[in-house]
Amino acid sequence: MIPFNQPKYFGKISSIKKLSRFSSKGLYTKKCEKWLISNIKCKDAILVNSCTSALEMSALLLDIKLNDEIIMPSFTFVSTANAFVLRGGKPVFVDIDKETCNINPSKIEKAITKKTKAIVVVHYAGISCEMDTIIKIAKKHNLYIIEDAAQAIMSTYKGRPLGSIGDLATLSFHETKNIHCGEGGALLINNTKFIKRAKILRDKGTNRDSFDQKIVKKYTWVDYGSSYGLSEINATFLHAQLSQAKKIIRRRLSLFDHYHKLLKKLEIKKLIKRTTIPTYNKTNGHIYYIIIKNNKRDELIKQLTQKKINAVFHYIPLHSSPFGKLNTKIKSPMKNTNFVANNLLRLPMHLHLDRKIQVYIVKQIYNFFKEND
Ligand SMILES: *Cc1c(COP(=O)(O)O)cnc(C)c1O
Repeated sequence: MIPFNQPKYFGKISSIKKLSRFSSKGLYTKKCEKWLISNIKCKDAILVNSCTSALEMSALLLDIKLNDEIIMPSFTFVSTANAFVLRGGKPVFVDIDKETCNINPSKIEKAITKKTKAIVVVHYAGISCEMDTIIKIAKKHNLYIIEDAAQAIMSTYKGRPLGSIGDLATLSFHETKNIHCGEGGALLINNTKFIKRAKILRDKGTNRDSFDQKIVKKYTWVDYGSSYGLSEINATFLHAQLSQAKKIIRRRLSLFDHYHKLLKKLEIKKLIKRTTIPTYNKTNGHIYYIIIKNNKRDELIKQLTQKKINAVFHYIPLHSSPFGKLNTKIKSPMKNTNFVANNLLRLPMHLHLDRKIQVYIVKQIYNFFKEND
């Protein structure tokens, strides 16, 4: 079977054996945080145990209270919404743009009410949202912007790294992402007023960080918080990956470009639409997807499985999920969200692929359309 994802390990196990500290906030945590600050150009970075944790910390930092509204797409991973629902907040969904699968900025303003606190943008597949328009809306209505950049490490918008634009941003180092350490994540901070409190939240609600810096003599419970830190074992693993980040992304982009060329004819014949990269974005090759135009996506998945290829759909939109129905609101018809969710197909994308395997995969897709034209 050609897997959809097959994580790769860089670095040496011996560097983990050499550690003298295994819990969070050791040497490698600091190295990773430094790497993130210098490469993503955010004001501060806090290494945490998942992107989900970073999103939960964002909701705490924004003081989300019962029935506060947070505008976001429904076409996203569950944690984008769940982090706010945990605080009593209400995700308000607006439709996506069909070209990019990202939130449609022209639908945002109509969804704003007195209760709106923030806009959460998701850079789907590592492709940037149209940030200038979103920033303008946020400024006009005094709203925070959070970038769910789980899939978007090292992608840029008009030359700016994603994760450096919102008040807060979140990254994922889950094994399905470009850069991974099994499970892990980061909270990136660009609005400096959040820095001090973010560290308290990570440290289980204590001022341990001020204690470590000898600013206070004893540390104690001062705020909400949880155990959000990343173990030093994972941080060591992660640092080896970050050191190779540019190479990893270059390799993914070459696979991305190869798929794009191979699939061109099917787009010309209007049988599929390929991943669209807007001119303002440089992407990181996180996902290569196609949108199937004959409504037979699920049949294609089945046929590819028979040919030992694991290609997968994305996502069941949150507004139509059982828990989403109870805890969220829709502010515009979810036409594009539903269309994309029903017709999008992600092709295998990982560092164990090669061009020959890609040719085989694409050949099976061409064969399917020959039989289903
Ligand atoms: C993967 C992902 C997450 C969750 O990441 P974890 O590190 O697994 O918690 C959140 N949002 C988006 C858009 C993702 O793709």
